[in-house]
Amino acid sequence: MKVITAIKDMRTEILKQKGLGKTIGFVPTMGFLHEGHLSLISQARQENDIVVLSIFVNPLQFGPNEDFSTYPRDFNRDRSLAEAEKVDYIFYPSVEEMYPYVPSVKVVVQERTDVLCGKSRPGHFDGVATVLTKLFTIIMPTRAYFGKKDAQQVAVVDGLISDFNFPIELIAVDIIREADGLAKSSRNVNLIPEERQQATVLYRSLQSAKNTIDHGEQNPANLICMISEMINRESNGQIDYVEIFSYPQLKPLENLNGTIIIAIAVKFSKVRLIDNLIIQID
Ligand code: AMP
Repeated sequence: MKVITAIKDMRTEILKQKGLGKTIGFVPTMGFLHEGHLSLISQARQENDIVVLSIFVNPLQFGPNEDFSTYPRDFNRDRSLAEAEKVDYIFYPSVEEMYPYVPSVKVVVQERTDVLCGKSRPGHFDGVATVLTKLFTIIMPTRAYFGKKDAQQVAVVDGLISDFNFPIELIAVDIIREADGLAKSSRNVNLIPEERQQATVLYRSLQSAKNTIDHGEQNPANLICMISEMINRESNGQIDYVEIFSYPQLKPLENLNGTIIIAIAVKFSKVRLIDNLIIQID
């Protein structure tokens, strides 16, 4: 496994592999790897000749009052985990390498960002789309792997790939959870112990919404109310949003039908957690 920090060196390696006719699976991350990331890497490993993992905490996608400076980082640990997963290259650029001067162009996402995280984190998806445009151009992957934990991101990346004609196949991978249901996240380490216990209410409330749907509930407003009450009752977290939309269009629904997403964001003292459930209703 090679660790590469310079864009020009990454390009040289990619061109060499492409010249040999190799397929390239790309897993973009912000590091502090957990089993969610590892499942993306493992799928990429199965489906491609070469696996490139990027580790870059992208300042462009953090708002001024967000957790860029406290975002957990541990490169040595990440390197060992990546090595064990048989990653071929870690692309690990510095902020100065990726943004050596104030960029003259940024990518603006116009669709599907007026809801969920796009609404509560203005500019977040522009930052994501901008860094991915750079990473896609540097790595030129055959396939790119994203987790459904960030379901709105998957929808936005789908738009980016098709609008800009990137010759990349987008692969969306299921959410990996802790034994008690909490979605794995690098940010979970910033929960205080009491919050860590309370945080299981995100998944439990999604499960109980699904149960209510299975028993015939048709009305999204009733479900939103039920989930919100449960989160408020069982945690000190502050609800950022509880929403139900069509997926991947992210349009409001009067009645539940087709593929829907139930999405939640809750703020704890130092972290904001997200979770979702995507279900098909006939
Ligand atoms: P991050 O490092 O948080 O930017 O995440 C990098 C990639 O891993 C994104 O595509 C995430 O959606 C994905 N990911 C993060 N957590 C999970 C999880 N619990 N299960 C599956 N994928 C995940």
